[in-house]
Amino acid sequence: MGKIVRAITADGSARLFLEISTDIVQRAHNIHSTSKTVTAVLGRALTAASLMGCMLKDKKDSLTLQFNGDGPVGSVLCVSDYCGNVRGCVGDPKVELPPNAQGKLDVGGAVGKGTFYVAKDMGAGEPYVGLCNIVSGEIAEDITQYFVTSEQTPTVCALGVRCDTEANCTSAGGYILQLLPGATEDTISRLEENIGLIPSISKAVAMEKSDEFIISTLFRGLEFEIFDEFDTEYRCSCSREGYEKALISLGKDELSEMISEGEPIEMTCRFCDNKQLFSVDELKALLSQSEK
Ligand SMILES: [Zn+2]
Repeated sequence: MGKIVRAITADGSARLFLEISTDIVQRAHNIHSTSKTVTAVLGRALTAASLMGCMLKDKKDSLTLQFNGDGPVGSVLCVSDYCGNVRGCVGDPKVELPPNAQGKLDVGGAVGKGTFYVAKDMGAGEPYVGLCNIVSGEIAEDITQYFVTSEQTPTVCALGVRCDTEANCTSAGGYILQLLPGATEDTISRLEENIGLIPSISKAVAMEKSDEFIISTLFRGLEFEIFDEFDTEYRCSCSREGYEKALISLGKDELSEMISEGEPIEMTCRFCDNKQLFSVDELKALLSQSEK
């Protein structure tokens, strides 16, 4: 289980969403057999999407975060629900890069240059989509930029993932800290100073610093309250009905071709590796549905 804690200053001028996401990132590593670099890429993106998901307004809403960079990892796709439950996948989960100039996992190099978008699906109608240029591909800076340009909300996003030599996630976490209308200069300068007290969120998680410790450090010198906390997990929403719909949507020509090959079809979920087998008879039944 991951965990999200939300806190706000007493005067309502700044809010903080903090997530401990070690278990979520490790689950992603187990599903996708990610390399060390990709554990960090996907882990940071999953944590960001999860934090942004719980900013959605309605239970039925979902949020998609997709990076389309020219780096070797290919596209990075994460989908979160309203409660921060999240799933994700990348183009090439196995790619490994040498460490960057700072000796860190080269997330920016793996993602590359290009664009990314945030789509909020509110159920009915067209989703809201914010498109941005990738700033560094390090994910956190990109998310910060998204909030400033697309949502006009001054934001600091920090994300971190640590791995062992086998690419297992040993600690992961992140936060999104935002200024709300009415923030005074004093609050802003205090927050700027406090951010420097936690130079690495993954290190803070690795040192088993409690979420209360991290929040009280980031809000040091300010009155605040924790308004809620809840568990989050790596969760996929795939279902047999979903695969049936996808097969039907291929259209009758493609379905007929599959049937004529006389072999069952195995479909694999790109988010959770769940496999579903469809026999020729089942494909025939779907074909007759598609003709209705
Ligand atoms: Zn799935």
